[in-house]
Parts: sequence; structure tokens; C-alpha cells
Amino acid sequence: MDKPGPKGMREHILTLTSSRVFDKLKELKSKVKEGDNFRKILIATMLVVIAGFLLGTYKINEVRTRAFVVYYGDDKVGIVRQEEEATKVVEEIKRELSNIYDIDIVLNKDISFEPTHAKDDLLSSKAEIHSNIKSKMTFLVSGYALLVDGEELGYTKKKEDLEYIIETLKDSHREEIDENSDIEEISFVEDVKIEKRDIPLNKIMDREELLDYIKTGGEEIKTHIVEVGESLWTIAKIYNVDVDDLISANSDKDPERLQIGDEIKLLRPKSLLTVETIERVQYTENTDYEVKVEYDDNMYKTEKKVKVKGEEGESQYIARIVRHNGVVVEKEILEEKVIRQPKDELIVQGTKELPKTAATGAFLMPTRGYISSRYGMRGGRMHRGLDIAAKTGTPIKAADGGRVTFVGRRGAYGNLVEIDHENGYVTRYAHCHTIKVKKGERVYKGQVIATVGNTGRSTGSHLHFEVIKNGKHQNPSNYVK
Ligand SMILES: [Zn+2]
Repeated sequence: MDKPGPKGMREHILTLTSSRVFDKLKELKSKVKEGDNFRKILIATMLVVIAGFLLGTYKINEVRTRAFVVYYGDDKVGIVRQEEEATKVVEEIKRELSNIYDIDIVLNKDISFEPTHAKDDLLSSKAEIHSNIKSKMTFLVSGYALLVDGEELGYTKKKEDLEYIIETLKDSHREEIDENSDIEEISFVEDVKIEKRDIPLNKIMDREELLDYIKTGGEEIKTHIVEVGESLWTIAKIYNVDVDDLISANSDKDPERLQIGDEIKLLRPKSLLTVETIERVQYTENTDYEVKVEYDDNMYKTEKKVKVKGEEGESQYIARIVRHNGVVVEKEILEEKVIRQPKDELIVQGTKELPKTAATGAFLMPTRGYISSRYGMRGGRMHRGLDIAAKTGTPIKAADGGRVTFVGRRGAYGNLVEIDHENGYVTRYAHCHTIKVKKGERVYKGQVIATVGNTGRSTGSHLHFEVIKNGKHQNPSNYVK
């Protein structure tokens, strides 16, 4: 900033001086009229005075505005009145950096000056020069590079920082390894080296910063906070990612036991280094039994019996497991010791063809007609069957195979046929006109057993069809269509 005080005052004095000169000139001019010669001399004198005065003013200004353009290499970094102002700033920067980096600083470019003229308001402040030089500095400092397969991955000031990073990375996958395992080796898949280098100052990283960069590959890992009712499977669906990838990205969490508020990584961080762990683990595992089948032609082909129950065996294994960044990439069983042999299971399977009269488990619609009344409450009474209206004499078929357990009159049912399907189901056919089967007879599915009639409590020719399962009436509409 310029200081208005002295400068403004000086200008004021100059103005005063010049106006006084002109007053005198006017005064003289009036006197000059007296003689021409005198006038000429006077004018010449005046011109000399004015010229002298202007020259003096110019000289004062020239000295007063002398300044220097400061260059850092080829870059202009400011204007100073005195060269020392800039050299002091440079010394200050060097001192400052030496303190921070604990090394002697040699600038890679020289400071130079070029004379110029500048008014006070064009001069650069110390802070301006300081920051201008600093922003253009690209000097090298001695530090250490982390070389991965020959490529420089990052730099730190101290060797110990890189050693710390390497050890921390190696340790970071211990938690993924089974606690019963013996770790045989922890190494990197890549060739990792530390080398001393001269490094541009701005590339030196803090050790935690570099560690983080290596762990994440410089990528930001997005996360999801678990909400009520969410699982890795629903989260995988939301973000359209593979659930196995989510499981491996969150190996620290039990996928079956997510808590509300848990932070789920949506991506497995792609580490720039691959930690290979080789572990030797001993574990026991159940072994499957074999199932053997025996055939029996005395049993129907739908029948099956377990003759001897199988039992799992147990074996002890010693395996070598190789992991890359905690993920198993190789598993080799080195030893298997059988603790208990599995016991084979023996199953007897029937081969005999089913009799035609055996139940199939599915019912057919016993007659053709239209549904005149369904199962359910009717006129304040429970109607336990399905009414199918049809002309008297229309054939009624057995809904499925079975044994006839009742034929004849039975109260409101009128003429009734009852079939036990020997699978828990019984069907009844009521209000029949004629009955074509005898009690105890085996019938096949679809066999005509009676004809539609109007016997018992009935107000028109129809079949009343009931389905009973384990003694309980069912809605026949759930079985026939
Ligand atoms: Zn009915």
C-alpha cells in the first residue's frame, strides 16, 4: 500500500511553488511593457528558470521511483525498491524450508534483478514475493521412493516412513486369517523396494497419506449405512453389485448378522500392493456318507424306505492356504486323517407297478354339470359339499382310486357312495339315483360308481360331493375344477 501522507504533501508544495512563479510572471509582464529589450531578457530568464525547475522536478522523480524487477529464474516475482528486500525473502524461505524438511535447501533457480522505475503503489509486498517465489519453486529434496515392480509409487522424506508403510500393510491382513492358523509367510506379490532419490518437494507425502493411497488405489470407497430390514443381499440389489463382492469387501462383518447403522463398503478397495499370506491350518470337517439303493419288487414304485440310516464321518485336515489381501486364492490339502469313517445309507426302492385303483393324490371332477351351490354357510347352516346340478342318470365317476367303504341310503344324503383313498382322503357322492359299486370293492380313478339323482334331502337332480381329509371336511373347490 502506498503512504498518502508525504507524497500528497510534496505535490501540494510543488503546486504552490508553480502558482507563485506564475504570479510573479504576471507581475513582471505588466512591468515589461516598459521596454522591448528588457522584455526579451526577462522572457529568456524566465524560460531558463522554468526549464531548470522542470529538470529539477524530473530529477527528483527519477531518483524517487528507482526500483528493481525481481526474477526467479525467468519468472517475474515482484518489484522492489531495494534488492535486499528480495534477497531477504529468499533467505527467509530457505530457513523456513530447512526447518520443515530438516535439510539444506539449494534453490534450483537464481534470483536476478532488472532496474526499473515504479511508483510506490506498484511495489510488491514481502508476502507477495514470498508466495510468488514459493509457488515457482520446484527444487528437489532428498527422500525415499517406494518402488513397486520398478515403478515409483510414492515418496516419503524418511526411510522409516516407507518401512512403516510396508510393515503396516503386511500386518493389515492378519485379522482375516484364521486364529488357529500358523502364518508361514507374509510377503508381497509385487517386487517392493525402497530407494533413495532426489524428489521434487511437492511429491513428498506424509506416511499415513501414502499408506491410505496404497490401500485404496487412490480411489474413494463408497459406503452404505445399514437400515432396518436390510441384508447384504438387499444392498447388493440396490447398487446392482454381486453379493459375493460385497461379502469380500466387508470381510470384517458377518453377512448374516448386520446391525442397523453398520457401514458397508460397496467396493473392495483395490490396493496397489498385494499382500500374500501363506498359512498352514489344521481343521476337522464332517464328510458325507454315500447313499446306496436296493430294489424290491414287492413294493410299489412310489414307495421308498430307509433301511440303514447313513452317518457322516469326520476327518482332520492340514491345509496350506494362500491369500491375496485376505482373499483365499489357493487351498491345498496337505494331509487328511480320518477320525471316523462315514456310514453308507441304504435305501430300498419299490419297483412294482401301481394298481389302477391306487390313489394318485389328485381328484377329478366327478360329474359334468354346473355348480349350483358351493361349500360354506348356506341359509344359516354349513353346507359341507359342492353341488353339481345334472340330469338324473348322468354318470358319477370316482374322483381318485380307492376302496368303497359305504354304499346305500344315509339320511339326508339319500343314496350315498363313500370312497377311502387310503392316503388320508375320503370322498362322498350323495343323492345318487343308482349305485354301481359294492362296499369293499376297489375302484380306479374315473370309474363310474353311480348316477346323478334326487334322493335324500334334495330339491332337484344334483350330485353333492364332499372331500374329507383326515376326518375334516374340506372345500372341494380347492381340489377339483
Ligand atoms: Zn349339497
